[in-house]
Order: sequence, then structure tokens, then C-alpha cells
Amino acid sequence: MPQLGQGTLKGMGITIKHLFSKKITRQYPEYKRDLPERARGMLTVDMDRCIACLQCMRVCPDHCISIEQEKRDFDGSGKPKPYAIGFVIDDSRCMYCSLCVEVCPVNCIYHTEEFEVQAYNRLELARQFGERPVDPTIDPQPPTKKKPKKSAKDGAKGEKPKGKKAAEGDTEKSPEEKPGEDAA
Ligand code: SF4
Ligand code: SF4
Repeated sequence: MPQLGQGTLKGMGITIKHLFSKKITRQYPEYKRDLPERARGMLTVDMDRCIACLQCMRVCPDHCISIEQEKRDFDGSGKPKPYAIGFVIDDSRCMYCSLCVEVCPVNCIYHTEEFEVQAYNRLELARQFGERPVDPTIDPQPPTKKKPKKSAKDGAKGEKPKGKKAAEGDTEKSPEEKPGEDAA
């Protein structure tokens, strides 16, 4: 049978031991450890270098980036070039995959070391960079590239048209199937 008070003494011993041992609790946010060299924090964009190519917007799997562009004649050459007048990055959607960083041809969008993000609602997490604010509630739909039209040469290769038009085309090519001709 265990002696009375043995458990209490054991517990007090552990408490006293930890009272004088080295503390391992780090007081965040006063103490912050160094980030790894390739840590991915919040994104930022250097608007002076952005050429409004929209590649980051197209590649983003979460549709975090939305850009409004217009054409401006910067150098007075009479040839206006694309300009990102509105640029928003929605941190509430970003998963820090870095695809936008990799695809940028002028390296103007990049990760910072900032990772402490907090807000009372998700709209506050949409950070605006351009001259004109972009509505972050609209899911950006990147402009799709137009498919090249089929040339006459392609058609001659024997590719059959599909769908309703194909059915109509087949009917025209087979006059013997037309009801009027059957009667004659
Ligand atoms: S890091 Fe990924 S998810 Fe975030 S904006 Fe860039 S492409 Fe989109
Ligand atoms: S990929 Fe780079 S240059 Fe192109 S629109 Fe995005 S940030 Fe601008």
C-alpha cells in the first residue's frame, strides 16, 4: 500500500525541477525565429515593372489575381502598350503555390517574408496595387485565347465536321436521300 502523501511529494518535485530548468517556451510575437531561405510569404507586385501580360492571372489555379488593363502610349511612339491600371491579389484565396512568380516574364511579382495575415472579413484580405481598385468579389475570368480558324487545306484532309452541321452536311452530300427526289 503506497504511503500517504508520496504522490504529492513526487508532483512537487517535478514542479520544482521545471521551475529552475531552462525555459523552452518562445514568446511569440516578441520572439520570431528566422525564416528558411525559400520561405513563401505574402505576394507583392512591383507595378513599375509589370507589363500587364496577364500570365500570372491566367496561371493562378485559385483565381486570386485580377488585373484590369488599358493601353497607354508611354513613349509617345503612337503605339500604345498594355498597362495594368488595376491589380488585386486576394490573400483569402492564395495557397502560396508560387506559379504566378514562376511565370512572370519580368520577375515583378514575388513573395515577401510577411506571413501574418489577419482581418475581420475576407474582403480586407484583397490587396490593391494599381491606380484603380478592382472588385475582389468578382471571380476573375482570364481572357481565353481564340482558336485559330480551320484553313481550306485542313478541311481537305478528310476531317469530318461534328454535330448538327455535320448531319446537315451529310444530307446535302446525299441527294438521293431527299424526300423530293424519291417522289420523282
Ligand atoms: S501563389 Fe499560387 S495561388 Fe497564390 S496568387 Fe500565385 S498562383 Fe495564385
Ligand atoms: S506576369 Fe508579371 S508582368 Fe505579367 S501581369 Fe503578372 S505581374 Fe505583371
